[in-house]
Amino acid sequence: MSDPNPTSWLPELIYTGPAFQRDHALLCDQAGQIVGTGSGVEVESAVLLKGRALLPGLVNAHSHAFQRVIRGRTEHRTAHNKDSFWTWREMMYSAATRLTPEDVYDASRMAFLEMALSGITSVGEFHYLQHGPDGVAYDDPNLLAKEVVRAAGDVGLRIALLRVAYARSGYETNVNPLQARFIEADPETYLRNLEQLQSELNQSVSSTVKSGSSDSRSALPEVRATTFAWAGVAPHSVRAVPLDYLRHVIQFGNRQNLPVHMHVAEQLAEVSACIKEYGRSPVALLASEGLLSERFTAVHAIHVTSKAVRMLADAGAMVCACPTTERNLGDGIVPVDGYLQQGVRVALGTDSHVEINLLEDARELEYHLRLQKRERAVLASTEDNGVSAIAERLLASATIRGAESINAPGGTLEPGRPADFFTVDLNDPSIAGASEGDLLSSIVFSLSKTAVKDVVVGGKRIVENGRHSEQEEIVERFKALQKKLWG
Ligand SMILES: [Zn+2]
Repeated sequence: MSDPNPTSWLPELIYTGPAFQRDHALLCDQAGQIVGTGSGVEVESAVLLKGRALLPGLVNAHSHAFQRVIRGRTEHRTAHNKDSFWTWREMMYSAATRLTPEDVYDASRMAFLEMALSGITSVGEFHYLQHGPDGVAYDDPNLLAKEVVRAAGDVGLRIALLRVAYARSGYETNVNPLQARFIEADPETYLRNLEQLQSELNQSVSSTVKSGSSDSRSALPEVRATTFAWAGVAPHSVRAVPLDYLRHVIQFGNRQNLPVHMHVAEQLAEVSACIKEYGRSPVALLASEGLLSERFTAVHAIHVTSKAVRMLADAGAMVCACPTTERNLGDGIVPVDGYLQQGVRVALGTDSHVEINLLEDARELEYHLRLQKRERAVLASTEDNGVSAIAERLLASATIRGAESINAPGGTLEPGRPADFFTVDLNDPSIAGASEGDLLSSIVFSLSKTAVKDVVVGGKRIVENGRHSEQEEIVERFKALQKKLWG
């Protein structure tokens, strides 16, 4: 190995794909980058991870961290009419309007702590809280975005801050005052603020992204393993961003090679409003305007025709499914079988954080289709060999596909990638007794979060024995915030 002082981690089993290897160490350099795997003399100084299996860190491609504060508070009937996404949204807004910058930090840190404890090492934060509660911009228009980035840095996660463009309530819809914190009415304002955020994040990517950091390095570090925070473009939806604005923002993202994320076809009402305004569905609109690309991730993409699936496939665009949230909101079922058949890459997100467990999201991709079609092994393919082919596919959605979607440096345990990984206790009751051959299926379909023991990001252990060093403080601060918000 070229580095004289590799840091190595020696678990009982390691998943470099497509199978587990026994007694192989993960070898890293001191910058936290993987240099290879090895055994024997090379692992003399290894950190021993006895009784544990090591897997690539999970990548959560869609999060609204602040929504952690409404967990448990929306699971009841609010009106005489049917409760839906739209009634839930009004409750979510009532919380969003009341958070101070420090509250945003505390709520985000809680969400990110829970992510870390479940094996997530990178997150794509779809961030739309920009202004003060009265809708007036803060002196620093990225104050709240930077509070979220600070929270991720303090927990130890990598973060893509997908800064949201939000212009209006909807087509022929009156302004909703509860959206005042989100709105930047013109693309020039949005792009100016985004560029400012980009330059500030680039200055601090190789530091730990602390608030008020005076780090003055101006260039992106050459080693991407040291990149901890970066920006992306996120027009909220066709509902919230009119076409001219949308073109401006997406073309900027494409020129800069940034990830472009957008809510697409989450609700039928959004699709019918788009057809009314433009005569085309959201996917058809994006395709005909040339706005889809490999950088584009359509979040949800539930209510789509097979023609729309092909349009996404032709453009090389991705889909981010959030099935735990989608079932909680009654959104519908992502047609993942159709996407995979057409070669559309599918990432995963924990979205509203009603639960944070990306492996649960992974298994739901398959389970929701089983319920819909009343058959098993829906995501199997005729080319599959081995009992864990579906699990491999689902794990890829929770790892490498997420990394591709948000442009994170991790996702697999290959040389040149950062040492972002988690370990699971092979004696945890949820997976005990699995053989090497069926371990991956046991992990993807059955793992309890309590089995997650170590989480390492860029070679640094942020969770050890199932605990984070700041856990008590983060939880106490969050409890105080909840008391303040809800009494
Ligand atoms: Zn969302």
